[in-house]
Parts: sequence; C-alpha cells; structure tokens
Amino acid sequence: MKLLEVKNLRTYFTISQGTVKAVDDVSFDLDHGEALGIVGESGCGKTTSALSIAKLLPKEGKIVGGEILLEGEDLAKLSDEEIQKHRWNDVSICFQGAMNALNPVMKIGEQIAEAIVLHHKSSEKDAMKKAAELLELVEIPGERINNYPHEFSGGMKQRVMIAMALACDPKIIIGDEPTTALDVMVQAQILNLLERLRTEFDMGFILITHDLSILAETCDKIAVMYAGRIVEKGSSEDIFQRTGHPYTKKLIKCFPDIKGKKTMMEGIPGAPPNMLEIPSGCPFHPRCEYAEEVCRTSMPDNIERHQGHFVACHKWEVIRSER
Ligand code: SF4
Repeated sequence: MKLLEVKNLRTYFTISQGTVKAVDDVSFDLDHGEALGIVGESGCGKTTSALSIAKLLPKEGKIVGGEILLEGEDLAKLSDEEIQKHRWNDVSICFQGAMNALNPVMKIGEQIAEAIVLHHKSSEKDAMKKAAELLELVEIPGERINNYPHEFSGGMKQRVMIAMALACDPKIIIGDEPTTALDVMVQAQILNLLERLRTEFDMGFILITHDLSILAETCDKIAVMYAGRIVEKGSSEDIFQRTGHPYTKKLIKCFPDIKGKKTMMEGIPGAPPNMLEIPSGCPFHPRCEYAEEVCRTSMPDNIERHQGHFVACHKWEVIRSER
C-alpha cells in the first residue's frame, strides 16, 4: 500500500465573483522515503493541493471530489475534529516564510516543546529534552534551546521550523517553498538537511516550489501544475530529459543550468490565467508557441505516454522529440 495516494482531487473556492477550481482532477502518490516535487507558477494550485492533504483550507475552500488516502484511510472524508490526530502526527507542513512565525519573545526550545506537549501529551521536562534533540537533528547545538529567535539567522530559523515539523515523528513532511526567502548557499544546506532526514527516517517528502531547478537533485518524481491541473508528471529524468509539455520546457528555461552548457534564460510569455475565466481547450494555449486549432477547442487528457510519465498535451511527441 502506498503511503499517500491522492486520486482525482478537486478543491474549489467559492468567492463572490464565482467558483475557482483551484485544484481540478489532480492525482499523485508518494511512498515511504520518496520525494515528490510539485512545481508551477503562483496560483497554479500547488499550495492548495498541500493544504487539502492536511485539510487546512481557508473557509472559502472545499474538497468537492476525489480521495486523499493516507495508508488507505481517506483524509478527505474526515471531519475537522477527526483530521486533528493526523496533523503533525502523520502530516506536517513547513510553510513559506514560516520562520517569521516564530514568537519573538519566547525561547526557541519552549516553542518546539509547546508543539510536543500539545500533540504528544508529554511532560514539559520531556518535551524540552526532545526539543534539544530535535535541534541537534537539524544541526543546531542543543543548548541553543535557551536562545530567542532574534539570535538566529534566517537559515537557522528555518531549521527550527523543520525541527518543529519533525516534533511528532510525521510520516510525511510537506515543504511549501521552504527555502524561498533564503540565499542560494543556505537554500542548498536546508535542502540537503531535508534530504538527509527523509532518508534517515524513511519519510515521504513533498516539496512545493516555483523553481523547477531545485527539484532536479532533491526529488524522485515531479508533478508540473498549471491552472489547477497536473500537465506533466514523471520521474526527474522524464521531466528534465524527456520533457513532453511546452510549459515544463519553459519552466526549465526560466532558471540557469549550472552543470550543462551555457544557455540564455527565458521567461514565459504572458501571465497565468484568471482562474475564474480559464481559457477553453488547453488552458496553456494563449501562451503556447506550439498551439494549433485543436488546442483552443479540446482539453488534452493527461495520459501515460511512457511508464509513469504522464503528459497532457496534444503535441507531446513533437515536444519530446526536440532537444
Ligand atoms: Fe500547447 Fe496545444 Fe500542448 Fe496545450 S495542447 S501545451 S496549447 S501544444
């Protein structure tokens, strides 16, 4: 049985202007010790997918279809009360800029211990001991539990947030842009740390980012999202070496390749669609240089084109044959 199976998930937001299909028919899975990257521009549905797993949606959002199977149990069907036992204990989320959420007037150790007491019902003494162990785990000396957040750098604060996410030994950690506010060196250190912890504890890891380049080294498989849907999904090699979707291709060219030959970075023309007025046919067609008439009228199915490699594009063969 898979650790996590998300099947045909639909999460919609009802706002005064209408219904936003933020996540529309999204499927992916994750095994113990596996890392999945979810990538796309702002508003593509990647964060909503993560929030749906932990049922942390804002009040306008609702899961209207599909399943979220955690070791076979459908989280989508659980009440707010029932999902509580899975948050932190089974699924932890480390949010973008979460380091700024640390309480400035509370010692680091007390903040980590608070989460342990709340979710593990430990004594305060045991929780402080575990807080020091968790700091060591994220490569911060345990005695620093007595420091305040202002005594930590940005990278160290993000490590503290990871320590908090680990506090209840979750089966899955979701990192939503966990390194966005950090410089490149610190970003690499944090990603290496997450990689080490994932292997050491055989956890599932979902990394959400707008930067496809950081997924190449970090993730076993990658899902590319556009306008609430997955447009391409496969192994890291599928996505980078056998790219089948024009949007993925553009995302790859948005970031410098530090290993390969020098190429010009390119932006993606146009802007992501207004989610209240998603274009007809393939939602990417107004921005796609390969678009033909069929793209304007018919939504391409997301079909498995080759073992585990799914692409939703009418012209995937043309795209994949280009190097
Ligand atoms: Fe471009 Fe057409 Fe493929 Fe959509 S289906 S990505 S518009 S070629």
